[in-house]
Formats: sequence, C-alpha cells, structure tokens
Amino acid sequence: DAEGNPISTILITGGSGLVGQAIKSYTDANARPGETWIFLSSKDGDLRVREDTDKIFEKCKPTHVIHLAAKVGGLFANMKQKVEFYRENTLINDNIMENCRIHKVTKLVSMLSTCIFPDKTTYPIDETMLHNGPPHPSNEGYAYAKRLIDTMNRAYAEEYGCNFTSIIPTNIYGPHDNFSIENGHVIPGLIHKCYKAKKDGTPFTIWGSGTPLRQFIYSLDLAELTVWVMREYHSPDPITLSVDESAEVSIKDVALAVAKAMKFEGEVIFDTEKADGQFKKTACNKKLRSYRPDYKFTSMEDGIQKSVDWFVENYETARK
Ligand code: NDP
Repeated sequence: DAEGNPISTILITGGSGLVGQAIKSYTDANARPGETWIFLSSKDGDLRVREDTDKIFEKCKPTHVIHLAAKVGGLFANMKQKVEFYRENTLINDNIMENCRIHKVTKLVSMLSTCIFPDKTTYPIDETMLHNGPPHPSNEGYAYAKRLIDTMNRAYAEEYGCNFTSIIPTNIYGPHDNFSIENGHVIPGLIHKCYKAKKDGTPFTIWGSGTPLRQFIYSLDLAELTVWVMREYHSPDPITLSVDESAEVSIKDVALAVAKAMKFEGEVIFDTEKADGQFKKTACNKKLRSYRPDYKFTSMEDGIQKSVDWFVENYETARK
C-alpha cells in the first residue's frame, strides 16, 4: 500500500520441496508489486504440531496460504506406512485449516492428488468423482487424509464463509524432487537409477512391466497454474491441474526419455516381478481448459531433460 506495507503476504507451506521450489522460481520472476512470498520448510516448525503452526501464523500474518506440506512418498513407502501417511497428513491439514480460519486468511489453496481418486471407476476421471468409491488399497492412508481436505473446504465455506479450495495435480516432476530410489516417485526414481547405471556400467532396470499409463506435469507448469488458482479461481470445489488426456504416456516411454536425456547407452530391463500399481488413472482437465484453453504445457522431453540436467548438476546436494 501507500505506506509500504505488503498488500498480500503469501505463505507457502512445504516451500522447500519439489512444488514449493518451483513456485519460488516462478514468483521470483512473476511476483506482483506489494506481494511478499514466504517459503516455509520443516526447519521453520513442525506443522504436525499445533503450537508450531500457531506460532508461524502469528509471526507471518499471511493473507493467502498455498498449502503444500505433506508426508509424501511413492507406491512402496505408501504400502508400508499407511498409519503414518494418514495421521501425519491429517494433523498437518487440520492445523493449517484451523489457523487459516482463525487468522481470516482470504484464500487457502491445498494440494490433493489424482492418486487419491477411486480405484474402481470409469475414465477419464474428473473432480466430481473424487468420493465415488474407495481409493487403491496401496495408498489408503494418504488418500483418505487428502480427501478430507475437500470435505472440510466445503464445510469451512458453509459454516464460516472461508474461501478455501484445492487443486488436483497428476504426477509431478522437476528440479528439487526427491530422487530416492526406494521412496521416491517414478520419474525421479528412474533418473537416479539411470544415473547410477551409467556411472557403474550396469543395466538400467525399471520396476514393473513399463505398461502403466500416466499423465505427468512439469513442476514449473504446476507452479504457474497454482498461482493462477490462488489469484483467479474462487470455488471450494477442486480443480484438476493436468496435461491433456492425449499427453498420457507409458512408464516405458518415460524410462526411454530418461535414458535419452542422460545419454545412457547400456541395456534397459523391465523387472516384471515388481508391482505395477494402478494400470491407468486418466484425469480429465476439461475444467482447467474451460478457464485456460490456450495454456501450453512443457513437453515431456523438455521437462525430463531439465530434470536430468538439474539432478546431474546438483547430485551432491539433491534429496536421494
Ligand atoms: P516434497 O516431498 O518435495 O516436499 C514436502 C514439503 O513438505 C517439504 O518442504 C517439507 O519440508 C515439508 N514438510 C513435510 N512434513 C512437514 C512437517 N511435518 N512440517 C513442516 N513441513 C513439512 O513434496 P512435493 O513438493 O512433491 O508435494 C507437494 C504437495 O503436492 C503435497 O501436498 C503432495 O501431497 C502433493 N502432490 C505431489 C505429487 C508428486 O508427484 N510429487 C503428486 C500429487 C500431489 P522439508 O524440506 O524441511 O522436509
């Protein structure tokens, strides 16, 4: 404003992660005058703990919150720790939502995921089908904790007039990802494995058959669309942020794109003893397209090349 006070203070929980760092890159170049962007990591407080969360809100006095912090992991981590995935996410989400209500935050945007959609369903799946049946048993803990965000966004709107909403991204990848082979998601896991195979002169082994189909969104695209949701999309109902259905790819395509970007020339093997997860979970992005018909997503080749280059350059410090 005229006195130099920030017009809006936007608090990003989980600001040190894959999506948080992408939003940081985006807003470093695209912040508007009067905006202050604050990126939190777990070092600023444990959001599972109510007192820590209260202190952060009292200190930062946010007008807007983009809530990314979560306990996240790949298929194998989710299968092993359902209790922790449910409890930790539920605690974090409750602490954030209650603080947003108490501090009269004008907008809260939280992250759901397409992997919380019903397991048995018809495809493509859209925002209205979120609660139409149980999620895949492999990630029930995470999925139910996330689904409750949507339920509570509507409850907070009805009871307190809060402007809370959620976004549903498909699989995300990009710089600052968690490149753990055991606990990470598919693209960063493949990048790390391919890096090792190249270094050790061993085959590049992909877990599963390579046939499952997925939609992947590059983290910088998601960052731009998330900031757009915060500014322009005002409904408690979730909105899917995904590439088009025609941009769905097989895990095999992804693995080959990683090998190409890494300039890996050895043998590529598919270990079919390992679980595949859901065969497909095609998400419909019609709602997004109704608002952003011309938005151009980064191609998978470009996104994977950028992610591979980032991993190679930041190998020592990358999460792995
Ligand atoms: P990351 O694992 O990269 O980052 C997680 C972030 O949450 C980090 O900043 C981490 O802090 C913070 N965090 C975790 N636990 C706590 C805690 N107890 N207290 C405070 N901060 C905490 O996650 P992503 O960026 O990949 O995911 C962001 C959101 O997007 C999540 O809500 C996730 O569920 C959702 N999502 C992700 C998908 C994906 O493919 N990655 C797909 C769909 C949805 P620190 O760095 O200090 O540990």
